[in-house]
Amino acid sequence: MVTKHDYYDVLGVSRNASDDELKKAFRKLAFQYHPDRNRNDGAEEKFKEVNEAYEVLSDANKRAAYDRYGHSGAAGSYTRDFEGFDFGGFGDIFDAFFGGINYAGRRAPQQGADLHYEFTITFEEAAFGCEKEVKLKRTEVCSRCHGSGAKPGTQPTRCPRCNGAGQVRRVQQSLFGRFVNTTLCDQCQGEGKVITDTCAQCRGTGREKQPRHIAVRIPAGVESGSRIRLSGEGNAGARSGSSGDLYVTLSVQEHEFFIRHGDDILYELPINFAQAALGTEVEVPTLQNTVKLNIPAGSQTDRTFRLKNQGIAHLTRNGRGDQIVKLFVATPESLTKEQRKLFQELASTLAPVKKKKGK
Ligand SMILES: [Zn+2]
Ligand SMILES: [Zn+2]
Repeated sequence: MVTKHDYYDVLGVSRNASDDELKKAFRKLAFQYHPDRNRNDGAEEKFKEVNEAYEVLSDANKRAAYDRYGHSGAAGSYTRDFEGFDFGGFGDIFDAFFGGINYAGRRAPQQGADLHYEFTITFEEAAFGCEKEVKLKRTEVCSRCHGSGAKPGTQPTRCPRCNGAGQVRRVQQSLFGRFVNTTLCDQCQGEGKVITDTCAQCRGTGREKQPRHIAVRIPAGVESGSRIRLSGEGNAGARSGSSGDLYVTLSVQEHEFFIRHGDDILYELPINFAQAALGTEVEVPTLQNTVKLNIPAGSQTDRTFRLKNQGIAHLTRNGRGDQIVKLFVATPESLTKEQRKLFQELASTLAPVKKKKGK
C-alpha cells in the first residue's frame, strides 16, 4: 500500500478541528488544486488526496474510526462497511461545494443568456404607453453554418479520443474501493464531436454577434421599475438550447407639475386670497389638455377636487385613474402701498379667525 499522509495534515487542520474548519480548509484546497484550474504536475494527485481526507473527516463515523485506527486500522476496520464505496468521480463532491461544474452535463442543451436593457421614458409615455426601439448586439446562431460550426457542406466527425462520449473515465483502486475519475474530454471539450473544416464566419463556434433593433411596445400605466419581458429575444442557446429572454426595465421621469400616486395624479393649484374668498373659475392643466375648474367662494388650502378619468391608464384593466386638484391659498409676500391700505381697511372689518374643532 502507498504511504499515506495524515488526513489532518493533508487538510492543514488540527486533530480537533470543527466541521466548519474542515469545510473551510477543504474548500480552499479543493479550489486550489482542482484539475480544471490547476494544470501543474501533482495537482491532480493532491486534489484526490484532499478529497479523500475530507471524505473521511467530514463523516463522524469514519473520522472516529480514523482517529482510532489510523490509515491501516481504518482500512481493516471499516472496509467491510464501505466495500465498493464509489466516489463517483471527484466532480460530485466538488459540485456540492461550488455548484455548476458538471462533467456529464456539459453536452446538454444550454439555454442562451438573458439580456437586460434599461429605458428612461417620460411621464406621459408611461401614462399613455409608447413604442420604443432597443438597439443591442446579441449572440445568434451563425447564419452561415446554422450552428454546427462546420464549413457548409461538411459535417463534424466523432471525436477519436472519447469515441463520441465527451468524457474520459479512469478507474482507480483506493482505500475505500473503486475510485472512478471522470473528466471532460479535452479534445472535444465534451461535445463528442470535432470539427475538421470550421465555418469561416463563426470560426467554428456556431454562433455570431449580430446588431439588432427590437421594437418594444410599452403599455400604458407602467411605472419606474416596471419590467417588460420579451420572450426568446435574448442570446441564442448552445446545442439547440432555447434562446434567453430580453428584459427591459423602465425608469419614468418626474413631471413638472404632476405627482403620481398609483394611477391618480396630484396637481397642486395655487390661488390667491381674493380668489379663495370670492370664488373663481381657473384653467387647470391635465395630462392631455386643460379643463375649467370652478372654485367656490370660501375655499381653504388643501381643499381637493377630483377630475374623473384624467389620471394614468390602469395597467391591468380598463379605465384611468383621476386627477386630484389640491388648493393652496398663497399669502402675498409683498404688497404695494395701495394694496397695503386696502388690506388694512379690510382687516378692520374682519372678525378674528376662530379655532375650529380638530384643526
Ligand atoms: Zn458558422
Ligand atoms: Zn472527445
